[in-house]
Amino acid sequence: KKVADRYLKGVTLGEGTYGVVFKAIDTKTDQTVAIKKIRIGKQKEGVNFTALREIKLLKELKHPNIIELIDAFPHKENLHLVFEFMETDMEAVIRDRNIVLSPADIKSYIQMTLKGLAFCHKKWVLHRDMKPNNLLIGPRGQLKLADFGLARIFGSPDRRFTHQVFARWYRAPELLFGAKQYGPGVDVWAAACIFGELLLRRPFLQGDSDIDQLGKIFAAFGTPKLAQWPDMVYLPDYVEYQNVPGKPLRALFPMAGDDALDLLSRMFAYDPKVRISAEQALEHRYFASGPPPTEPVLLPRPR
Ligand code: ADP
Repeated sequence: KKVADRYLKGVTLGEGTYGVVFKAIDTKTDQTVAIKKIRIGKQKEGVNFTALREIKLLKELKHPNIIELIDAFPHKENLHLVFEFMETDMEAVIRDRNIVLSPADIKSYIQMTLKGLAFCHKKWVLHRDMKPNNLLIGPRGQLKLADFGLARIFGSPDRRFTHQVFARWYRAPELLFGAKQYGPGVDVWAAACIFGELLLRRPFLQGDSDIDQLGKIFAAFGTPKLAQWPDMVYLPDYVEYQNVPGKPLRALFPMAGDDALDLLSRMFAYDPKVRISAEQALEHRYFASGPPPTEPVLLPRPR
């Protein structure tokens, strides 16, 4: 049976932060798509207008490293978001023990991630919920960021009802300190965590609560000094803590080259005002020096 007279419903792909995702065929284009059903409940006035306006903006967010939002429509008590279908994701790549990632492969994945981020940030759209399973990988190896802008439209996802709590591991220190106003730096921090995860082949900072997450960050980089991040004392959940020293980045990532370590240190800057932007990161010498990033078609993928 067709949904909205256009989509032939297929298998369920999984349950995400906002609702169920299923596979479907777009009969208008014969393209395979992924439809995300977001429960909005009965709404007298129809769907929330602000949400619809924001969704219209997302439809115009077109870039080779961003998942295309093909269509969006309310149906029964759900909002349906139609995306291009993607074969696999970064989490599967990292977890697959048969896959060896060369320094050039890692560079390619990080470059595509930063290109997608830089494009959205230029349009003032934040992701806010970057994690490896939001980095989808297409049939020709292209990496595309999924769920861009959804956190802002639908609010911070309610994690009590989902298995997904991993996003904490990618959370920037300003968010953990309760910042209500934050910027694109939160996505750069998350991208740095993913960069680290590609190098280590396991999540880099695995906190089991928000407090523990800060503890893991402090243990790695040392507690932030006032001179390093003067504004931290104004954040709602800031508390004085005991100073602990950090470890040299080289000791945390012994497999990384000097250029990779330098870029990582700038992406992991405590002060979001000091943290490198996605656009600046793409200009970093890590991408100019050898080895060149692997061409997407040649990247290793799960089979
Ligand atoms: P989360 O909110 O946990 O990030 P999502 O709602 O994005 O999860 O996705 C739920 C499931 O649907 C995941 O297992 C994901 O692999 C799959 N999925 C999401 N988007 C797509 C897509 N565009 N193509 C293929 N599978 C997708």
